[in-house]
Amino acid sequence: MTAEAERKMQFLYALRSRGVTDAAVLNAMERIDRAAFIRHYFTDRAYDDMPLPIACGQTISQPSVVGLMTQALQLSSRDKVLEIGTGSGYQAAILSALARRVYTIDRHRRLVREAREVFETLGLANITAFVADGSHGLAEQAPFDRILVTAAAEDPPGPLLAQLKIGGIMVLPVGQSDTVQSLIRVTRTETGFDYDELRSVRFVPLVEGLGRET
Ligand code: SAH
Repeated sequence: MTAEAERKMQFLYALRSRGVTDAAVLNAMERIDRAAFIRHYFTDRAYDDMPLPIACGQTISQPSVVGLMTQALQLSSRDKVLEIGTGSGYQAAILSALARRVYTIDRHRRLVREAREVFETLGLANITAFVADGSHGLAEQAPFDRILVTAAAEDPPGPLLAQLKIGGIMVLPVGQSDTVQSLIRVTRTETGFDYDELRSVRFVPLVEGLGRET
């Protein structure tokens, strides 16, 4: 076995042992090369189950967390998905393998520009990336079947709840501080919202407004 194939096998093993068991999610994570979303000297850590630094002081999430969040969304191939927090674009790429259409938003222009380049290189044509404050959602494409937020807010932002279809699912980290957050799943019902708590996580904060240009 080549070193590359062995690293990939260990990557999938780590994902499974941390609870990523959905075959379609594992398949997407096997096919989409995380290294393509990481620049410079960290590429040799691409298959380690750890978050890594990207531009603008942000991070690409830990692969097992990407897998668990994707799994919690219970995606179908007909779904229109909104992601808040494009970052490297890796999570959006995984979503794009499992859904019909993905819209992703980041407040940093540079991150959106770089992610778009990777989507194009990989031929991921069903993702559209925007520079905006994602806490307002994306009214012109609403409502969404699924919403994923990859930065932590104190509470689920109202506009995102409003842009979720009935029967739709939103997964997001919420918490009062940078260190103690829980990943929750919100399901919109005919009459309101159901909440369940999935696990504790640690994400960068959801910040208001656009990022300063770097
Ligand atoms: N999903 C990413 C990791 C996200 S890190 C990946 O797969 O690599 C969190 C991202 O959320 C950062 O890029 C940060 O710029 C972005 N972010 C924080 N607050 C935001 C907001 N209000 N609107 C849009 N993006 C935001």
